[in-house]
Amino acid sequence: MRIVLLGAPGSGKGTQAQKLITEYGIPQISTGELLRAAVSEGTELGNKAKSAMDSGQLVSDDIVLYMIKERLQEDDAKKGFILDGFPRNLSQAASLDTLLAETNQPLQGALLIDVDFEVLMQRLTGRLSCENCGAVYNRFTSPPKVEGTCDKCQNALFHRGDDHAEVISNRLKTYENVTSPLVNYYKNKGIFLSVQGVGDIDEISAAVKLELESAKIS
Ligand code: AMP
Repeated sequence: MRIVLLGAPGSGKGTQAQKLITEYGIPQISTGELLRAAVSEGTELGNKAKSAMDSGQLVSDDIVLYMIKERLQEDDAKKGFILDGFPRNLSQAASLDTLLAETNQPLQGALLIDVDFEVLMQRLTGRLSCENCGAVYNRFTSPPKVEGTCDKCQNALFHRGDDHAEVISNRLKTYENVTSPLVNYYKNKGIFLSVQGVGDIDEISAAVKLELESAKIS
């Protein structure tokens, strides 16, 4: 399976990607996660990316492309991948196509997780994560049992720096203006798929699976 997950910040791409990893045994490649790791390790690329990330803007294409190219060359990506958060604009999408053409492994699908703006705002402003085990909670919709503490490992929960109201609004605007044109890009290529991303997580996963199966992607 070689697919891209499309969707605004907070649409649940990451959650659905996790489900697909378990189901299909291929890696999720998230540029957001690669970038956050580079920032916390203080690498040169991380330092360059930090200010754009902190303000909710996109990091420059060369940084992201360099990272994705390296990551796609790792062994686990040879049998397929789920790209999450990449591509984020038309130029990244074209670069990805070129990159995958070199190994004769074109994308098979671009799946949009579709969610309304109001729901995205609530999800993002309430999001809490555990840095230790990766669990994700939401203050409004799925709070932890004890405020501020992870149910699974009892670590303190944190609110991502780019999950604050003004930055969130920037991230959503960037999505609308720069990323959403990818829908037409992939429609024109005949590989666009979509599911509604609201409701029970397992029901959304079932819809994702069905959509992939009906496009004969496995
Ligand atoms: P995410 O976790 O996917 O929401 O990404 C967090 C932040 O990392 C974004 O707001 C951007 O600043 C940056 N980022 C992630 N992926 C990309 C990408 N493909 N191109 C440019 N910037 C990105």
